This record gives sequence, C-alpha cells and structure tokens, in this order.
Amino acid sequence: MYMLKICRCCDSIIGELEVDDSRTLGMDHSLEVIGNVAYTLCSQCMKELDISGVHYYQ
Ligand SMILES: [Zn+2]
Repeated sequence: MYMLKICRCCDSIIGELEVDDSRTLGMDHSLEVIGNVAYTLCSQCMKELDISGVHYYQ
C-alpha cells in the first residue's frame, strides 16, 4: 500500500512511501502513522531542530 509522507513541522509533502506491512513502519521511530499518512520531518526541519534542539552536542 502507498502512504503519503508529510513533514509534521511545515506540512510539506515529502513523498510517497510504499509499505508492505504497517509493522515495518512501527520500527521507524521518526515516523508517526495516522491513517494513510506518515508524519515525519523533512531534512530542512530536521536541520533546524538539530540546531535549536536541547540535545545538541558538539
Ligand atoms: Zn518540514
């Protein structure tokens, strides 16, 4: 089945995801699956979170 991958931060559509088994998605902790939509972070938002995040190590 196909799922839509959407950035949970800026709501931009990142792409489509083809999954054979929804349990596969459960192993990816960056994904939050609601219905046919998999919420994740786009590379840009991930970068911004990295910079402003509390868990930033240098
Ligand atoms: Zn984003």
